[in-house]
Amino acid sequence: MRPRVLVVTTGGTIAMAKTEAGIKPSVNGRALLNAVPGVEGIDVDLYEFSNVPSDWIEWKEWILLSRYINERLLHYDGVVIVQGTDTIEESAYFFNLTVSSSKPVVVTGAMRSSDVWDTDGPRNLRDSIMVAGNLNAVSKGVVVVVGGEIHAARDVFKIDRQFTNAFSSGRKGAVGIVDELGVVFFRSPEKRHTYRSEFAPFVGDVLPQVDVVYTYTGMNLDVFNFLVKDGSSGIVVVAAGIGNASKHLYKVLKGVVSKVPVVITSRAFYGRVAPLYGYEGGGKSLYDIGCVMGEDLHPLKARILLSLLLRHGKSLSEIRKEFKEY
Ligand code: ASP
Repeated sequence: MRPRVLVVTTGGTIAMAKTEAGIKPSVNGRALLNAVPGVEGIDVDLYEFSNVPSDWIEWKEWILLSRYINERLLHYDGVVIVQGTDTIEESAYFFNLTVSSSKPVVVTGAMRSSDVWDTDGPRNLRDSIMVAGNLNAVSKGVVVVVGGEIHAARDVFKIDRQFTNAFSSGRKGAVGIVDELGVVFFRSPEKRHTYRSEFAPFVGDVLPQVDVVYTYTGMNLDVFNFLVKDGSSGIVVVAAGIGNASKHLYKVLKGVVSKVPVVITSRAFYGRVAPLYGYEGGGKSLYDIGCVMGEDLHPLKARILLSLLLRHGKSLSEIRKEFKEY
C-alpha cells in the first residue's frame, strides 16, 4: 500500500513574499504544495489550517492542531505541519508530548520567502513528505525537518536568524538526514514522547500559565513577585551556567517556591543544569529550597512540560521525576 501523508499548512515565511511593507503572508497552501515535485510512491493530501506568521500562533492553535493531528493519523500514515520557523522549537515539542500516535509527525518551514529564486521552502516540504511517509520514522516522535536534517522535537532549537540551516540539537546532533536518495536515521530520541507520553492526547482547551524569566547581572527581581501576583502557575528561570543565580535571586526564589513551582534552566546552550554549587544562589542551594532542575531542556520546552505537568496536578516530587523522563 502506498503511504498517505497529510500536509497541514499554517503559514510562515515559506508562504510569504516581499511587499513594499516588508515580507508578509502571500501564497496559500495549495501553491506551496504545487511548487513541490511529487514524491514517488507517496500520496499527499492538503489541509489549509491558517496562513499566519508562527509568531502569531497561540496555545489555542497548538491544541486545535494537536487534536487534528491525532484524529487524522487514524486515516493517514504521516502528517507534515508547515509553519514559520520562529516558533517551531516550541510547537514541535508540544506535539511531541500531546500526539498519541507512533506514526510520523514532521514540522517544517523555510527561512527564505516563496518569491526568492533560491527559496528553501519546496525542498524542505518535499524532504518532510519523504520523512512522514517513511516507515523508519515510525516511533521516533515528532521531528523537525529543515535543511536536510531531521531533528528530535525535544532537542531542537533555532540557532540562526537568517540562514537556511537554522536548527541545531546541540551536542546531541540531528537524529537523521534526508536527501535525494532517501531518509536515513542515525539514532532514536531517548526520552518519552507521543505514544509513550502521559499527556497525549491533550484533553481540554486551556493550559496553566507558565512564565519564563531570563536572569542577568543587575536584573529587576520584582518581576517574580509580579508574575506570581498576576496569576502565573509556574516559573521557569533561565539561570546561569550549570544552573546558578545570585544570592539576591536566591532570597526571592525562597519565597516564590512556597507559592508556585520553579524550574531552573540555563542561559548556556549545551549540557544540563545540576545541583552542584552550594553557595547562596548556586544550583544546589536552589534545589534545596525546592526548585526543580530542568535537566538539559531548553527553557521554552521546560515551560511547555511544566505547564502540562501542572495541568495533570503533579506534586513537586513528581515534577522532579518527570523532568528526568521527558
Ligand atoms: N517570522 C517567520 C515566521 O515564523 C519566520 C519564518 O517562517 O521563518 O512565521
